[in-house]
Amino acid sequence: MKQSYVTHLEAALDGTRYPARQVQTVHEGRPLWVRYDLPAVKAAVSRDDLAHRPHDLWRYRELLPVDDDAAITSLGESMTPLLACPRLGAAVGVPGLLIKDESSLPTGSFKARGMAMAVSMARQFGLTRLAIPTAGNAGGALAAYAARAGMEAFVFMPDDTPVVNRAEAALFGARAFLVDGLINDCGAIVREGAGPMGWFDVSTLKEPYRLEGKKTMGLELAEQLDWTLPDAILYPTGGGTGLVGMWKAFDELEALGWLEDTRRPRMYACQSTGCDPLPRAWAAGERFGQPVEAPATAASGLRVPVACGDFMVLDAVAASGGAALAAPDSEIAGMMALAAESEGISLCPEAAIALAVLRRAVSEGTIEAHERVVLFNTGAAQKYLELIDHPLPRFDKDRMDWDRIRSRGASKD
Ligand SMILES: *Cc1c(COP(=O)(O)O)cnc(C)c1O
Repeated sequence: MKQSYVTHLEAALDGTRYPARQVQTVHEGRPLWVRYDLPAVKAAVSRDDLAHRPHDLWRYRELLPVDDDAAITSLGESMTPLLACPRLGAAVGVPGLLIKDESSLPTGSFKARGMAMAVSMARQFGLTRLAIPTAGNAGGALAAYAARAGMEAFVFMPDDTPVVNRAEAALFGARAFLVDGLINDCGAIVREGAGPMGWFDVSTLKEPYRLEGKKTMGLELAEQLDWTLPDAILYPTGGGTGLVGMWKAFDELEALGWLEDTRRPRMYACQSTGCDPLPRAWAAGERFGQPVEAPATAASGLRVPVACGDFMVLDAVAASGGAALAAPDSEIAGMMALAAESEGISLCPEAAIALAVLRRAVSEGTIEAHERVVLFNTGAAQKYLELIDHPLPRFDKDRMDWDRIRSRGASKD
């Protein structure tokens, strides 16, 4: 069995070391970092070696935790497009806007990156039964990767989880349950069931390897920008794995000497005003968030009332010179329509919130018009049927009334 370059795991809270190559979860309820022997990685692989590898996240194999190739569980996690968006960018005041569009990943969201890694590691450890609390895309992604690995998955969702997320978990063969409560209540079920049910909890950041999967967003972004980084990144943040993962990716790339220019982007953690523990903590100058009382947002991926890795997000945001900012749900529909009509990109509501944050940040001068800005579209709009349902006018096949069509067209042009 070929070994990965992982040396150990390390508590994000206080640096306590944990051995790699055995099942680990958290330290005092807080996440663990996966650490690598970066000098050895540097000696083993160069940036140019990547050019010959398949265009998927496994191209960064030396910076990933899986030891045994046979454990790799993949549904084809292709590199995602980094799309120049001049029209949309001009509309929000930054013509250099790029969208990293994660919507084409397996199961229609970037949760695939994290789950591909978590399930591969679970397989390496011989785990066969996994469980997760989810308010959105994580349940479907876990269910799909568990099916791919031949494992059992248990998924617990609040009642108000979008219909496609409920259906996909069941479709992929997970034992999926609706819970009369919030995501934290689902989390408590998964915690308590660990003993009696013998399952492994793959909640965000309670399992160390989803972060490593999401880290590949940062590796990919750097490679797509010819080993430079943008001026600012807007990231729709729930648990924060993606933002923290990207910041870790930039650290590792810098240590490897792979970056042409080590200037870092300002990281903007974007949330809905309906569930904004990070912007609140940020505004108060706190490193840890307080649970939001009645979280309410249609951007289900952002409906995380308090995150166990909140201090990791806020640390990265602070180190980068960015901010944690919120925009209201009332902006979602307009931002989704703007991106769809101006660029043909189907933004998920989470990314629509980030776009609303961007527009405000530009108008307030926090982000400047000339800057190179990357916004993450973390999932596909099509998964949110409740939000994209749109009544269409009827066309009468017996009348062929072209004037009616012309007049509708005219009002749009
Ligand atoms: C889970 C999710 C998020 C939040 O991701 P984190 O990395 O956990 O903060 C954002 N958008 C979508 C579509 C999601 O499913």
